[in-house]
Amino acid sequence: MFQRHLETLPREIIEKVQLERLKRTIRRIKERNRIYWEKIGKVVPEDVKSLDDLKRLPFLTKDDLRKGYPFGFACGEQKDFVRFHMSSGTTGTPVVNPYTSADVDQWGEIMARCLAAAGLTFSDVLQITPSFGLFNGGFGFHYGAEKIGCFVVPIGPGRTLLQLKFFKDFNTTALAGIASYPLRIIEVAKEEGFDFSETSLKVGIFGAEVWSEEMRRYIEKEMGIEAFDIIGMTETGGVGLGIECNYHNGIHVWEDHYIVEIIDPETGYVLPDGEEGEMVVTTLTREGLPLIRYRTRDITRIVSRERCECGRTHLKVARIKGRTDDMLKVKGVCFYPRQVEEIVMKYPEILPDYQIIIGKVEGKDTIKLIIESEKQDEYLKERIEEEIYSTLGLHIKVTLKKKGEIPRAPGKAVRVKKEI
Ligand SMILES: [Zn+2]
Repeated sequence: MFQRHLETLPREIIEKVQLERLKRTIRRIKERNRIYWEKIGKVVPEDVKSLDDLKRLPFLTKDDLRKGYPFGFACGEQKDFVRFHMSSGTTGTPVVNPYTSADVDQWGEIMARCLAAAGLTFSDVLQITPSFGLFNGGFGFHYGAEKIGCFVVPIGPGRTLLQLKFFKDFNTTALAGIASYPLRIIEVAKEEGFDFSETSLKVGIFGAEVWSEEMRRYIEKEMGIEAFDIIGMTETGGVGLGIECNYHNGIHVWEDHYIVEIIDPETGYVLPDGEEGEMVVTTLTREGLPLIRYRTRDITRIVSRERCECGRTHLKVARIKGRTDDMLKVKGVCFYPRQVEEIVMKYPEILPDYQIIIGKVEGKDTIKLIIESEKQDEYLKERIEEEIYSTLGLHIKVTLKKKGEIPRAPGKAVRVKKEI
């Protein structure tokens, strides 16, 4: 562990720390941003007597933050900040998160905990494939790696042939990336006859996209590594909100830095542990953009608040199932793309790239699933159609294509296309 004492705090102490830091965060908003303070109902720290009082505060949404572009919710002035990161903004105005130097330090700390949870030490070599720029991924891994003192290969995204060469030339032991990028690496490696067993790779840390257990098994088998799921987003201060430990039975969220609630996305009520709903995050140590009850739109549940087999006491949430806005409703059936992925990936003949195409013909929903296989097997197609119907209750038309026919997107994979 990077900070054994803090990562194994007894629950009563964690909750005491959370209450004190929640009050401090509210005070910061009250003193530094009047509009934000009004938005949270002009609550004063003295009003917050227990963590339960958090439930009375209003939610903050991505739309709120967008409307505040660039510094509407920032607590401080530009001169107090050292940099910003920004959400990709593919679906509208981006969200800007300004960092104070203390925020950069906080980020390094939680990322160092994440890297240590994935088994990294100073003797490791971490190849960082997320970009270094407005997207938070590259820098997040970099700061964590600096804190644990491992060797960084700051290559960034793309140039997959060079990635393969560097695995060997720099004895890379750990790979960090967006969850769909290892698929590209594996694909290019196969074309080039590259053998992962000739490298020192043993760990992969992947996030920023929803990826299934089946996808994990594929990556682990092909690359000969242990893969860890990491979470975090621009709004919470970047990657590193939480990560799996080597028991892989949930994602630890660093509770001395964040409070997590799971709510019913329709009613907004907090759900009991174990029930699936939308994750809401309150930050406790962020300065530039502190969050009070931010609706992440990620669907998960609380797995456990008990001490984990790894010794950590910070709660665990399930791997993200989808986002409230990724849920698809076709022919009256609601489902997440990940559920289709889980079915498709069970078939070893099927390659891991897939695309769901949704449209409308004469007012009726249509849905197609495009998959790739080396073999053009009609029987296989039917089996997949039947399995999707028996699992999701959805009639879906499967189209089998040859390897490489589904367009590969730079950055995040495009799994769903709407032709409406
Ligand atoms: Zn654990």
